[in-house]
Amino acid sequence: MVSKTKDLVVTISAEEYLDLSDEELDALSPEQFLEGQTAVLNAERLTYGEQASALKAEADLIAAEAEPGDTQFDEESGEGATATIDRERDLALAAQARAAIEEIDGALRKMQHATYGVCENCHQPIPRARLRALPFARLCVRCKEGGLSRRS
Ligand SMILES: [Zn+2]
Repeated sequence: MVSKTKDLVVTISAEEYLDLSDEELDALSPEQFLEGQTAVLNAERLTYGEQASALKAEADLIAAEAEPGDTQFDEESGEGATATIDRERDLALAAQARAAIEEIDGALRKMQHATYGVCENCHQPIPRARLRALPFARLCVRCKEGGLSRRS
């Protein structure tokens, strides 16, 4: 089904796109929908990228400021242990941000192969509202909840 080209939205910003109601979202053409999703993915990619480098910089700073003796694991020394915990937390968060970027890149690759927005488990289309809220979702809600990861 090819819908008539609407001279409505040619380029949409992530902000405009996120402001659409669910009805407006469903009314978009597939091209417009993917354009909006791309805008959101790119915006999130930027945010996660900034987060990852800020956290890494902070972790490096903590390491640089720590006395050589403090970097060793030592439950007795308060300061050094706190710095180690802070640094490990920063590094863990930076790793999470990088993992999110990989998910985003995976989603962008799927768009190029026209497999974006399809549940990886049941191969049904994932509703647009879910994709907008979670643009790198791999699974539909049903598969997510009843499927592989039952942690809640
Ligand atoms: Zn599914």
